[in-house]
Amino acid sequence: MAVCELCGKEAPLISAIVEGSQMDVCMPCGKFGKVVRKPTQAAHARKASIPIKEIIETVTADYAAKVRQAREKSGMTQADFAKALNEKESVIQKLETGTFHPPISMARKLEKMLKITLVHIEEEEKVESEKKASSPLTIGDLINLK
Ligand SMILES: [Zn+2]
Repeated sequence: MAVCELCGKEAPLISAIVEGSQMDVCMPCGKFGKVVRKPTQAAHARKASIPIKEIIETVTADYAAKVRQAREKSGMTQADFAKALNEKESVIQKLETGTFHPPISMARKLEKMLKITLVHIEEEEKVESEKKASSPLTIGDLINLK
């Protein structure tokens, strides 16, 4: 087993910045510095136990036909519709021919105005593995793991 660089005790070690230099120390000694890496075992447990929910919004593939049909049904011309949306008429033309893919914010506006559904929401659960590298652990984190 490895030995703590500060007190010389045999213990599971963590990496911590102590007085400006990185050292492998035991948990109690880690309190004197800033922990930069937790024990491998804990890293595993944490990685597996925190799924991140990611919400993915996508605009339906047949948005062009949906918008055109709903707009025609409402009796508005492309020019009227452009005005109502505060967009250029050419944007509406492109939108209705499928050459302009609307951003989510615009699709939301279209949904409200035309009372149609354009945005699909998907929830994806994924386990975050990149995050821990970018956010150094504090002693508080280590205590919470127990
Ligand atoms: Zn120690």
